[in-house]
Amino acid sequence: MTPDEFRRHGAELIEFIARYYETLSAGGGERRVLSEAEPGDVFNAVPPEAPEVGEDFAHVISEIDRVVMPGITHWQSPGFFGYFPASATFPAILGELLSAGLGVQGMLWQTSPACTELETRMLDWMGRAIGLPEAFLSEGDGGGVIQGTASEAALVAMVAARQRALDDRGVEETDRAALNGRLVAYASEQAHSSIVKAAMVCGIGRSNVRLVGTDGNLAMDAERLRAQVEEDARAGLIPFFVCATLGTTSTGAIDPLAEIVRIVRPTPSGGGGWVHVDGAYAGAALVCPEHRGMIEGVELADSFNFNPHKWLLVNFDCSCLWVRDRAALVNALSITPEYLRNTQSDAKAVIDYRDWQVPLGRRFRAMKLWFVMRHYGLEGLRAHIREHVRLAELFESWVRADDRFEMVAPRSLSLVCFRLKAGDGATRSLLEKVNATGEVFVTHTVIPFAGGGGEPVYAIRFAVGAVTVTEADVARAWEIITAHAT
Ligand code: PLP
Repeated sequence: MTPDEFRRHGAELIEFIARYYETLSAGGGERRVLSEAEPGDVFNAVPPEAPEVGEDFAHVISEIDRVVMPGITHWQSPGFFGYFPASATFPAILGELLSAGLGVQGMLWQTSPACTELETRMLDWMGRAIGLPEAFLSEGDGGGVIQGTASEAALVAMVAARQRALDDRGVEETDRAALNGRLVAYASEQAHSSIVKAAMVCGIGRSNVRLVGTDGNLAMDAERLRAQVEEDARAGLIPFFVCATLGTTSTGAIDPLAEIVRIVRPTPSGGGGWVHVDGAYAGAALVCPEHRGMIEGVELADSFNFNPHKWLLVNFDCSCLWVRDRAALVNALSITPEYLRNTQSDAKAVIDYRDWQVPLGRRFRAMKLWFVMRHYGLEGLRAHIREHVRLAELFESWVRADDRFEMVAPRSLSLVCFRLKAGDGATRSLLEKVNATGEVFVTHTVIPFAGGGGEPVYAIRFAVGAVTVTEADVARAWEIITAHAT
């Protein structure tokens, strides 16, 4: 493809995307939010073998509607209230395009200084924007890095924690396997499965993760954590890692970080296990000072993660991870084959982000953060969060005012969990009917319900988060929900 052809096809594709968004924001139009594709539909729409001879690209573009679109669930639709959002915006999409256009692979500082240094600066910008202490920023001993997902962030934090626990005990490399079996990690029963998965991947094992019980709000019960940590320490085990979740996946519950750090890190100067904060969804709200109460105690945590790709206007993937001691991460993950050596790295004059992550290669993701933060400004980011919280509050008020329904957990930011008082079967059937309309999409969870004596109940999760959503869309969703409840 020549630059001129690229110009032409690129313009067509940008037009396609712009038109797509216009149809979405017109209330979804003819589009059903959830794809109706059956298993195999898209697979079978594509021939089994690649074309022997290259095809006309205009023809390929013309096939998007036939092959791809039927299998798209419209995450950016104003009727999408499922899971947590995966927000995409035009500035972010343009950042992604420029990143692809420059074709950089940023494994080392040397392989594109801009890829590394813009990322370092963006993570400092974002760290300040969400109120992280300076210790997590690059001018101190800490710093931030963009990972693909919160799961990867949890994994690298756990690997660094393991290394630190073993180094602190002066364990020789050859004895490490034996000690690995004594390492114990902690997270609440409501924590994301990625914490257990991180333990599976890094050799700690599922059985050495303690899932600590929760309180009436489904947040970690700090006293139970304390008791478990003490019991394990008495048994000769090593409590080396605790994950505090800010905004659990099911209900958005906020673990008591200030109490957790005091239990795990008994002295301000350190000692004790590594505290990782998983703020995958709720972390975005920290751009608003009124939501910063949840990070009280973060100055004693070791790592903090949230996903701008969930609720902060950056398209997937972009997961920001900060550490207070970057040396701990690098000690655990750095390995330098000869072919990667270069003057600046050898002189330790630069950051090589390959040492802060599992893969070697890395994308230029900072570009989209740069575009988004400059386009919206912090004011724009705060307005985005506040509007979604306002819409969720409104939705909550409607749930509370209708006696057929009840809240199953306190609303958390833009997430409302509710059910029909008529019970699990009725609530499940309501969700199915609402989703079958195609106009809106909501998802469910099963959680212990304080109002039902802690018994697990089926609940609908209503997560406001699509960038295109308006009050009229939330009102329409409620109209559909109540019509089917009747
Ligand atoms: N942590 C929490 C609290 C989440 O809600 C999620 C996903 O929704 C994750 C971690 C995993 O996120 P990712 O897909 O970025 O790995």
